[in-house]
Amino acid sequence: MVSPKVREMLATIEAETRLTSRQTGRSALRERVMEALAKVPREEFVPGPMRPFAYADNALPIGLGQTISQPFIVALMTDLLEPEKDHRVLEIGTGSGYQAAVLSQLVRKVYSVEVIPELAEQASRRLQRLGYRNVEVRLGDGNHGWPEHAPFEGVMVTAAAPLVPPALKKQLASRGRLVIPIGLPYLHQELMVLEKDEAGNISTREVLGVAFVPLVGGVDPAERRG
Ligand code: SAH
Repeated sequence: MVSPKVREMLATIEAETRLTSRQTGRSALRERVMEALAKVPREEFVPGPMRPFAYADNALPIGLGQTISQPFIVALMTDLLEPEKDHRVLEIGTGSGYQAAVLSQLVRKVYSVEVIPELAEQASRRLQRLGYRNVEVRLGDGNHGWPEHAPFEGVMVTAAAPLVPPALKKQLASRGRLVIPIGLPYLHQELMVLEKDEAGNISTREVLGVAFVPLVGGVDPAERRG
């Protein structure tokens, strides 16, 4: 059974989807994406004092200067990834682990990289406790992706970057999709969807203006040349 608070969150996501449909080209999100949102208990992913607001359509602080994204944005980014049951997905920016939990309902395996040790550890423990067995969290700089498990059918970056980290493009499977906010940290980014075709060529499209915390760290010069 879906609680009234969750139902309200889903209704708000549907309304926001319609309101932004001119930009995004989507007037409704996939049924299975909405079902995944309905199933994951968002209150488990926010700090105690934030629990009363867990199902509001807002980003919320999760400590250490970071935030759990707004449910509509989680839903939209998940939909843009076009997740399928047999996919393996890489997420950069585990944060609370909420987005990873949503993805875990939709794909075979989620690999998630977080750069802040406390958050990586908390999220990993939380996901274990809640029984999300197909999510693996690693501490590290997501600019380098997770080469040992590449290629990925989907890559999602949940922090703002000035450009698409080259390693992530490289680790994208043929016909894979990469969803990432590109632009100025905190202020304004364009949510971008990159798609790799069978020949390895990448096409890019802008979807919507968004605001994320920054992707820290960076690519080293050798990787930039490659
Ligand atoms: N997806 C998260 C919210 C992301 S907030 C959720 O569902 O809760 C952005 C996260 O990206 C923060 O936790 C931040 O520490 C992390 N981050 C920033 N730069 C990073 C990098 N280079 N590699 C990995 N994680 C990074």
